[in-house]
Amino acid sequence: MTSADTQHLANPTADTDIDAAHQVLRRVFGYDSFRGEQRAIVNHVVGGGDALVLMPTGGGKSLCYQVPALVRPGVGIVVSPLIALMQDQVDALSALGVRAGFLNSTQNPDERRMVEAQFVAGELDLLYLAPERLRLEATARLFDRGKIALFAIDEAHCVSQWGHDFRPDYLALSLLHERWPDVPRIALTATATQKTRDEIIERLDLHGARRFVASFDRPNIQYRIEPKNRPDRQLLDFIRTEHPGDAGIVYCLSRNSVEKTAAFLTENGVTAVPYHAGLDNRTRAENQARFLREDGLVVVATIAFGMGIDKPDVRFVAHLDLPKSVEGYYQETGRAGRDGLASTAWMVYGLNDVVQQRKLIDASEGDAAHRRQLQLHLDAMLALCETVHCRRTQLLAYFGQPAEPCGNCDTCLTPPESWDGTVAAQKLLSTVLRLKRERGQSFGAGHLIDILLGKMNQKVQQYDHHELTVFGVGTELRDVEWRGVIRQLLAQRLLAVHGDYGVLTLTEDSNAVLFDGRKVLLRREPEQATPARAVRSAKTARAAKATPADLAPEDVALFEQLREWRATTAKEQGVPAYVVFHDATLRDIAASKPTDLPGLAAISGVGDSKLARYGEQVIELLATAMDTSGAQV
Ligand code: ADP
Ligand code: ZN
Repeated sequence: MTSADTQHLANPTADTDIDAAHQVLRRVFGYDSFRGEQRAIVNHVVGGGDALVLMPTGGGKSLCYQVPALVRPGVGIVVSPLIALMQDQVDALSALGVRAGFLNSTQNPDERRMVEAQFVAGELDLLYLAPERLRLEATARLFDRGKIALFAIDEAHCVSQWGHDFRPDYLALSLLHERWPDVPRIALTATATQKTRDEIIERLDLHGARRFVASFDRPNIQYRIEPKNRPDRQLLDFIRTEHPGDAGIVYCLSRNSVEKTAAFLTENGVTAVPYHAGLDNRTRAENQARFLREDGLVVVATIAFGMGIDKPDVRFVAHLDLPKSVEGYYQETGRAGRDGLASTAWMVYGLNDVVQQRKLIDASEGDAAHRRQLQLHLDAMLALCETVHCRRTQLLAYFGQPAEPCGNCDTCLTPPESWDGTVAAQKLLSTVLRLKRERGQSFGAGHLIDILLGKMNQKVQQYDHHELTVFGVGTELRDVEWRGVIRQLLAQRLLAVHGDYGVLTLTEDSNAVLFDGRKVLLRREPEQATPARAVRSAKTARAAKATPADLAPEDVALFEQLREWRATTAKEQGVPAYVVFHDATLRDIAASKPTDLPGLAAISGVGDSKLARYGEQVIELLATAMDTSGAQV
């Protein structure tokens, strides 16, 4: 169905608008009902209101503007910074029978002219637009020649100068309202701190817009943070035991470690491609396209990768390095499990991460206020890593949302023990203090630990550090445990780290521990991945996978057959597999085994267009499969 049909359904009275929106949802997208806030948002925008939508990644933002664009007369203009993904977005909409096009710098003038002509003729439902085109007067003149249903501003946080994705072109978006005051605007983002929110409203002049804040919880994602020892090995074990053959994203800080990790995974039988800003455009586009199109590929990337990637079946997001902020972490992990099926956000983290991040902050451009801001971001991230409470509760609290312990994060599943680390903290802090007071020296973690453990090495002898009274007073803890103590003292701001060498110094709060008897509670370092632990995590992984949409063992073969059919079909059409059908839809088909087209149409994710295109093939595949399995009995 195209909007030519749906627009006839649209008329000024609210009830029919709701009916029309619901019809579009059912017939075009094949979904039974709106999710959460979607209904209210759609109604508001269909009625001509402005909206600011805050919804987590995977929450379902696209429908919030796609449905109103189909219901309201005219073309929905979608401003998006994700030029590389526009073709895929248009393909996905075309598969649904929606008439969509885009205008960006990747097109030649002829291609552009064709899309412009379609726009003017009212032959489009949705037009995706790169933000830099807004600066062109030609774009404004084009808009004046067609009818506009709404402006959708995707990734609206790009307008925020404090945020990590600032795009100067987004500042031109305030023009929209001045020039077309009657066209409703809907701004959408998954980045939701109050500061960013206020900035979006201010810069886009959305003061009169209604705000919709969805729950930021992503219950199908399991959050886990583990101590880092051999990150490559740990990652490989994690993928092998919990996500063999699954699509996933691995984030690393540097281009170098991206390359190394991708090579390491591939050598060990996990197909992985690198993605970072240092690769040439073609390789990057190619690797992104492979990730979107192939089933079960792993991409190892810097944070340059992922915004707007709407692949629904990413089963895990792994971090081998500490992200800079909780916001960044939440956005990156949010790319897992958009289809609502069980997924894992897994991270390893160690003392070096803290030293590294601190170094980056010290070296960053910008004034003291900016650096302080970065430090606050890092502190919040460290607090999340070191918490003995539910990770999800802590994450949601960061976004201003209260929540109970979730039962689906590592601290809920295996509550960490805490221990009284006051004496250990005193020993460490007084070593730092003595070195400073008695010798005027500061050192990094490694050397401090050697002193505490009483190691007679070259550096100790060179500086006569065996003569310090604290030499060898810390043998009750092992090296890794001391590293854990230091990490946690940094997280609690009882210790600070500086410069290229990761030199440790005291903070204002250190004195309270050294002299005023302030207690220090620490999280016990889990044993290094013992077999018992591996078994436990495999078990929790299975438990997490037992979602309602999960398959009975006898249906798994059928599901795999459907996936094979989907792979072939997608390849023939040159589109990602999920554009044909999502995993969740194939699971439902395998479980309910419809025998005719109406039965198939009832399944979530099967709209009119896909029913017409694939219905017969799927029913036939099911019939054949049932015959064969019947014959075998
Ligand atoms: P976001 O843009 O917020 O990250 P998307 O718009 O990509 O999220 O939606 C996430 C996934 O949820 C998509 O696969 C989409 O098809 C699915 N989805 C969205 N709304 C619904 C709904 N009402 N019913 C079923 N599935 C939905
Ligand atoms: Zn929890």
